[in-house]
Amino acid sequence: MRRGKPTLEAATPKGASDPITAALKEIRDSLASDSSGALATYIPQLAKVDPGLFGLALATMDGRLYKAGDADVPFTLQSVSKPFVYALALADLGLDEVLSRVGVEPSGEAFNAISLEPGSGRPLNPMINAGAILTTSLVRASDPVARFERIRVVLSAFAGRRLEMDEAVFTSELETGDRNRALAWLMRNAGSLRCGVDETLDVYFRQCALLATAADVAVMAATLANGGVNPCTKAVVVPQPVAEHVLAVMASCGMYDSAGEWLLRVGLPAKSGVSGGLVAASPGQFGIGLFSPLLDAGGNSVRAAAASRRLAERFQLHLMHHPGRSAPVITRTGSALTLQSGRRRRRAERDVLQAHGDAIDVRSLQGDIEFAAAEVVLQSLGTVPAGARWRVLDLQGVSRLHPGAARMLDAAVLELGSRGVVVAVGDPHRRGLLPHAAVELPSPEEALEWCEDALLESHGASLAPDAALKPEAHDVLASLDEEARTVLGAAMPAQAWGRGDRVLAADDEVLLLLLSGRLGAYASGQAPDAAARRLGSVGAGTAVSRWRPLDDGRVSPTLVAELPCSGRLLRRVQQERLEREHPRVLARLWRQLASQQE
Ligand code: GLU
Repeated sequence: MRRGKPTLEAATPKGASDPITAALKEIRDSLASDSSGALATYIPQLAKVDPGLFGLALATMDGRLYKAGDADVPFTLQSVSKPFVYALALADLGLDEVLSRVGVEPSGEAFNAISLEPGSGRPLNPMINAGAILTTSLVRASDPVARFERIRVVLSAFAGRRLEMDEAVFTSELETGDRNRALAWLMRNAGSLRCGVDETLDVYFRQCALLATAADVAVMAATLANGGVNPCTKAVVVPQPVAEHVLAVMASCGMYDSAGEWLLRVGLPAKSGVSGGLVAASPGQFGIGLFSPLLDAGGNSVRAAAASRRLAERFQLHLMHHPGRSAPVITRTGSALTLQSGRRRRRAERDVLQAHGDAIDVRSLQGDIEFAAAEVVLQSLGTVPAGARWRVLDLQGVSRLHPGAARMLDAAVLELGSRGVVVAVGDPHRRGLLPHAAVELPSPEEALEWCEDALLESHGASLAPDAALKPEAHDVLASLDEEARTVLGAAMPAQAWGRGDRVLAADDEVLLLLLSGRLGAYASGQAPDAAARRLGSVGAGTAVSRWRPLDDGRVSPTLVAELPCSGRLLRRVQQERLEREHPRVLARLWRQLASQQE
């Protein structure tokens, strides 16, 4: 088990001002007066519980906790422990080995039924007692004491805090648990239980007597819903496939003999226990923990089950629920003719892009992309406009690319490559979602810049990164006459910058004619680190002017050398001198700059 640094504390929203707490409270209040059902009495200690207790909690994938009622009152987990111990056995032994020892078929029978496969003695599933007892015996440990300690530690990791055991409930069940003893002996006799009966039951009864609150159980469920990572502590408790397998078995077998109706009506993987606890999860969304000790004839908590049903209805959480129509997955298609990157380019480059920009095709995607949306994207990717040789895939708006969908899209990227189309991905989240893309850059604009550079290079129109333009080849100076160039050449000293140097701060009053390299423009005041917003860039042969008269009043970005750069600078003093000594040259320079900015 890998434990990460806890970063996000489980925070309880104050008051009922938020709609989630309000819903939990409302559901609780509307069911509080239902005193039907009975306390479990076959473990005498459980009959001593206050039957009026009723708590609900919901934990999100960000580790936020919403609670109502007695959500902080501890109760013994009983069968709510089963999915989590099953998770541990799966993590220890792997699915196939565990499956060969404990089945996954719903028994349709009560929790303590003698549901063993004829012949092998293999219990039907791990959510009923027989299967759970056997599952407990599978947990890797050198002896029973170590086995229980591992179970306690892992269930505590699921909950995000150390869970203690209720000695009285443990002893009570140890003294009266003859039916479980009988089950264990039957399995032992059939050869399916390979450990001793007493030592196995000792560990099993202890695991059932672990104390947790509805809030703890909500976090335990949220850990399963979060792919095995505790959303509060960020600890990796079990591998993701294990969490998925456990949820699947909870969905089919978690609710004893009402598992089928539960799946039909509530549609969430869940597990109940005879102390009145109930755990349920919505994969990728949240976990809930409920506690109310009065049980129906099937052994499920009356109020906890009803509350789960209402929550699922209220928030439309049924697993089979149609998710509804989403916004289009493709938000933008175009080419470098119609969409511009954030690079300021010299005329020669602009001309090539104007003539050949349709060789770069841009697609922007958005939303949560699973199979159906990926299929739509595939259709669109398959139609490559004639002459397109580069394709920008803008994943900035993609909140999630389902792994299966990512494989589909990556296969399409590979196929495009075989047709000579190079794919550049723009993704600020740097998720590496499409490994066969030629490059992944931190924004769609940079991906487009990259493709533009490649297009320019293929037309011999790009400047080598280490090459510098002669001043007279600079767009601004090239359009002035010899005399003006000489005057300006004398007034504008040459300057060079190393990669990473801050070339112009927001408040510099200066004119820069860039002759080599490239500048990145960052939102004013930001350093160009990973978090800074890159607004665009400036290429050799173009000018940056920071003169108040030419400014449009916006705060200018900070310019940082992304490559070694050189250029000519005209500062305020030199400009004032030009104003006095060569006003006509200065006026022509202004005119040129103004036309460059059009
Ligand atoms: N310790 C209990 C038993 O084995 C758990 C049963 C349950 O919660 O369903 O009888």
